[in-house]
Amino acid sequence: MTDTRRGLIIVNTGPGKGKTTAALGTAFRAVGQGLRVLMVQFIKGSWNYGELDAARLLGEDRIRILPMGRGFVKIGVEKPDSEDVRLVEEAWQLARQEIFAGEYDLIILDEINYAISYKMLDPERVVEALKSKPASVHVILTGRNAHPSVVEAADLVTEMREVKHPFQKGILAQRGIDY
Ligand code: ATP
Ligand code: MG
Repeated sequence: MTDTRRGLIIVNTGPGKGKTTAALGTAFRAVGQGLRVLMVQFIKGSWNYGELDAARLLGEDRIRILPMGRGFVKIGVEKPDSEDVRLVEEAWQLARQEIFAGEYDLIILDEINYAISYKMLDPERVVEALKSKPASVHVILTGRNAHPSVVEAADLVTEMREVKHPFQKGILAQRGIDY
């Protein structure tokens, strides 16, 4: 164990549940260590997610969560909706600026892998930013289908594997567990 701070690039990907919640768990731990945390949500809108109110309880000077999407994205379509592309671009500009501003110790790019895999964001722009980021800043990227070049740039990659999910039994999303 050492106190030497080395900003890590962390990827939570795979089809199983837990990518965003693992990032929020890390955020909780980081806040306890006095680190300042920012989560930029690339797809989610400001729907009633428990983490939004929890972050407010901890205090905006410690953790901020910014929902930058409109909650859902049409999938299976050839070309992504131009409004979604615009929102992703806006989220990326803000995230990039904050990574380089150095005001936050941990920056979570929630569902950015999803935005990349649906061709709403060029992975090379993300990789370029990750490679030139301030050395002490930790970045977590979440979402299914992490791009190979993002995986390549990362220090820590975890793939969530689905063993069971209640949805398979027809059990819908649960308050406090899924949102
Ligand atoms: P969470 O936010 O719960 O950690 P996640 O970030 O791993 O989930 P996402 O791809 O962001 O997964 O999907 C978010 C929503 O989809 C959550 O409500 C989650 O419970 C649900 N979900 C995640 N994985 C699965 C799965 N394998 N089958 C069905 N639903 C899932
Ligand atoms: Mg998620």
